[in-house]
Amino acid sequence: MTHDRHAKQLRTWTEQARRYTREGKSADYIPALAQVDPSQLGVCIVGKEGRLVAGDSDVSFTLQSISKIISFMVACLECGIDCVLERVDVEPTGDAFDSIIRLEASRTGKPFNPMINAGALTIASLLPGGTPTEKLNRLQSWLEMWIGRRLPLNQTVFESEWKTANRNRAIAYYLKETDYLQGDVEDVLEVYLKLCSLEVRLDDLALIGWILALDGYHPLRQTQVIPKRLARLTKAIMVTCGMYNASGKFAAFVGLPAKSGVSGGILCAMPPRLRSKQMPFREGCGIGVYGPAIGDDGNSVAGVKLLQQLSEQWDVNLF
Ligand code: GLN
Repeated sequence: MTHDRHAKQLRTWTEQARRYTREGKSADYIPALAQVDPSQLGVCIVGKEGRLVAGDSDVSFTLQSISKIISFMVACLECGIDCVLERVDVEPTGDAFDSIIRLEASRTGKPFNPMINAGALTIASLLPGGTPTEKLNRLQSWLEMWIGRRLPLNQTVFESEWKTANRNRAIAYYLKETDYLQGDVEDVLEVYLKLCSLEVRLDDLALIGWILALDGYHPLRQTQVIPKRLARLTKAIMVTCGMYNASGKFAAFVGLPAKSGVSGGILCAMPPRLRSKQMPFREGCGIGVYGPAIGDDGNSVAGVKLLQQLSEQWDVNLF
């Protein structure tokens, strides 16, 4: 690939998308997230041809809901896909990620998918380990195998979430009542909120996206680290539920598997079979985006615009 030309293009698209940061604001329901500068926008793309970065790419931020795909994959790897799907479905809801309404309204009370809080709390309870620390350590070991490092916990964000987690607490106690959530509710909340509070960088997200793009094959370790069936299932859930209740719009206008978090991060996978003439990464790539100004749907406003620009300009779209 002509690295300089593509790097320049990416810088231009990032600066063009940056103006959309004004249309969102930093998440304020978690007090520690409200303090970040909402005008930031950065991107990192990795693939066999190398690495492209633009904008505020040297940042770290908390995983938030992006942790939901990681805990889903780890729970499936440790307990088996069937065991996980007995407790969490794979249907989109069209409701907000922290909505409680369908838990009681649906016939079974089964969480609709692993990308909403009800599903992720249930999955946190399935992770192996007797204590929150053991569960987190186990998940960190998988992550370390994928990205080569253990992610630090942002204690300030965790404490801020823990103190204000009334809605998550309500969802978790309800799931305990219906028997979907296993074990001690406060322990499960601790695991879930600590997963949300792990700090990542854009290249970590891009590498996970690249592994998913390659159906679970780790391009640097040159070995299959996630079974193909699980990688594909995860991408299908990302397409249908990964961008909260804006997943339909994201599929319609961007057309790629992605997962967002309220800190403003987005992890996206561009599988190699989607390659086009314009696409510089012939063998697929992973993309990490960070833009903390989020919209009402919880997604980074400028981040989504930037991914839309990339998928259109590079003519890469699942559909
Ligand atoms: N920790 C946040 C919560 O549970 C994560 C939400 C998100 O990123 N959508 O509310």
